Amino acid sequence: SVKELKNSLDRSYKKKKIAVMTSGGDSPGMNAAIRAVVRTGIHFGCDVYAVYEGYEGLLKGGKYLRQMQWEDVRGWLSEGGTLIGTARCNEFREHWGRKQAAYNLISEGIDALVVCGGDGSLTGADLFRSEWPTLVEELVKDGTFTADRVEPYRNLTMVGLIGSIDNDMAGSDSTIGAFSALGRICELVDYIDATAKSHSRAFVVEVMGRHCGWLALLAGIATGADYIFIPERAAPKDKWQSELKEVCQRHRQKGRRNNTVIVAEGALDNELNHISADDVKNVLVELGLDAKVTILGHVQRGGTAVAHDRLLATLQGVDAVKAVLEMTPETPSPLIGILENKIIRKPLMESVELTKSVATDIKNKDFDKAIMLRDTEFMELYDIFVSTTIKDDGSEMLPVTQRLNIGIVHVGAPSAALNPATRAATLYCLSRGHKPFAIMNGFSGLIQTGQMRELSWNDVENWHNLGGSVIGTNRSLADADMGTVAYYFQKNKLDGLIILGGFEGFKSLKELRDNRERYPVFNIPMVLIPATISNNVPGTEYSLGVDTCLNALVKYTDDIKQSASATRRRVFVVEVQGGHSGFIASFTGLVTGAVSVYAPEDQINLAAIKEDLELLCENFRHDKGENNNGKLLIRNEQASNIYSTKLLADVIAESSKGNFGVRTAIPGHAQQGGMPSSKDRVIASRYAVKCVNFLEEWNEKNKGVDADTKVLRFQYDVHGEKRPTVQHEDDSAAVICVNGSKVSFKPIAKLWENETNVELRKGEDIHWKEFTHIGDILSGRLRLRAEV
Ligand code: ATP
Repeated sequence: SVKELKNSLDRSYKKKKIAVMTSGGDSPGMNAAIRAVVRTGIHFGCDVYAVYEGYEGLLKGGKYLRQMQWEDVRGWLSEGGTLIGTARCNEFREHWGRKQAAYNLISEGIDALVVCGGDGSLTGADLFRSEWPTLVEELVKDGTFTADRVEPYRNLTMVGLIGSIDNDMAGSDSTIGAFSALGRICELVDYIDATAKSHSRAFVVEVMGRHCGWLALLAGIATGADYIFIPERAAPKDKWQSELKEVCQRHRQKGRRNNTVIVAEGALDNELNHISADDVKNVLVELGLDAKVTILGHVQRGGTAVAHDRLLATLQGVDAVKAVLEMTPETPSPLIGILENKIIRKPLMESVELTKSVATDIKNKDFDKAIMLRDTEFMELYDIFVSTTIKDDGSEMLPVTQRLNIGIVHVGAPSAALNPATRAATLYCLSRGHKPFAIMNGFSGLIQTGQMRELSWNDVENWHNLGGSVIGTNRSLADADMGTVAYYFQKNKLDGLIILGGFEGFKSLKELRDNRERYPVFNIPMVLIPATISNNVPGTEYSLGVDTCLNALVKYTDDIKQSASATRRRVFVVEVQGGHSGFIASFTGLVTGAVSVYAPEDQINLAAIKEDLELLCENFRHDKGENNNGKLLIRNEQASNIYSTKLLADVIAESSKGNFGVRTAIPGHAQQGGMPSSKDRVIASRYAVKCVNFLEEWNEKNKGVDADTKVLRFQYDVHGEKRPTVQHEDDSAAVICVNGSKVSFKPIAKLWENETNVELRKGEDIHWKEFTHIGDILSGRLRLRAEV
């Protein structure tokens, strides 16, 4: 009913006047955040203002505070930087400046402020809020306002969003813009790699990060760098030079043709002396290398936001408005952050203080504490970098009895991060003294040729940025000939298996585990790293390759929207992959500002299409021409047996009565995305190392020990050697999963039983459900319904 539809707008909150601003250094994704704040605010019945030019605009007031309408933010998702401007403003550091800002806000009747910026901006925001009652009191005392006039403004509602490419805020895994900057860095280092290899050169690349090494660390992992310099792990004075030389030389001896060293702008030695890119270069020159310096500079900030940042900014912008509406005067100002996959709220003040204490810890040379205060992954990623590069000198090898033969197999359609994951697993195995074996061309390759290739450092060294699968992948499952698979497992004395793949990989793991009683050789720990662009592996919210695919789709849709803006009044029905899972479609819809998403989880029917048509007409009615940059409808390939992409386009075109043209666009295999994205490369490394640790733990801690009797169990291998085994029914066959803010290993048997929709080849949990609701808010669908 109309009443129900009206309720969907949820106007139960007290109406607020919300101002949104960006401050400090610009970062890609800020526009997506502003768009989300503006539209969500309007959706909930609030007036939303943009503060132009950061705190400077807050001080100046007047035309710098502009009310935003729904249409004003159309097309902003694809724009880099910040369209409302940003600035550094020294006057805001002064009490009088903040008093002036308070005057301007009260004059406009604004009672809530959403600030998107780095730690400096948020420190200013926090100070402003805590000082607010005093500022208001002063404005009454000096006769600027009457007490009655300021009564509704006794408290300022303040919410912080972290817009910063540095990713330096404590309590959040990533900040708006950080992954875009990382993506840019990796793209550029990839280019440098090609020329460096040609000339057999060493390159020292300086990246941004005055106080934070996140960009340098992640770029180090993602670009396969030899060495990194970051402020939180200060290099030992007078010693780093020899270690750097040793590492680069060792890698050359192993066969590497180039060297890459990433230096954070704020790199330090442990006596707090700055280490510059030139200092590093000079050391490499001493080694006899042809070394060059590249300082990436402001290109790192530029360009449009990657898919990750568009989503992060959108979800956080929506949550910022919800926080504004839910807060009471007693609620401490929140900072909206993210942990793994979950949007969280943290007390703004605490996070800012923690962030600042990192700088203090560095100043006090307490580097261990500094690194601990970074996000949850930082330390782990640092250890991963060290153990796969600096410590690949044999110093981290396990005792001979604990060294394993580890098989690695790719199953199913390729996704972008198969090679980086295999590389990281291999490098980590080699550092630990294990032998990594690539099962060539999937299980059918093994069955047909028996080929298992022992991988060397040199084999995998440059796989960090390769898409596809060097060792080959195949859709066939192990059950095509389980006996033969078992034979080759035994022949190569595998102690553990890493499977990389999507639903086929998932099924293979289940089959291998189910066949343990028949083939005791499968009594080894086995683990699946979900890797598929469909993101349909049960139990997890993320599969490798998804980020690359989403970036490819964002680029693709940006391009076709551009083409539509030239021809005007054009709608594209874009068909995306995902099998029976609507994740990719829903995500793409949200980060490209699609008018509608057709996912397999929803029914496409005539009523839905009719509503889409109304929304399209409404959209075109309000378009001002110049920002008429094409409308998108995203359809998952399996969304309906009847309403094909073509039929949908035809129906909409026919009903548009010539109002607009409709085209279909099918990116097909381009969705695999070529080179893996920086985020996929980093997650690939993280999961690969975690999985090798999982295999080690099951081989050591739990090996052959019967849970009840504590008696060791053995089996005899093909050479007649007695080998301890894991047990069929234990949890040693598992999938590495991320759920909300938690990464864990889930046993395949339980996953299969409780979380799998076998028929539709996906998980039961639709973890992206909220995308649909948020998409409906931001596309204006819910407003339209309420106006019916
Ligand atoms: P980036 O991460 O790019 O450095 P940032 O937000 O940390 O971004 P800053 O230059 O530190 O950038 O701060 C931006 C603005 O925030 C300053 O120009 C100033 O107006 C305000 N600001 C920063 N620190 C304070 C403070 N302690 N008190 C009041 N205002 C501040």
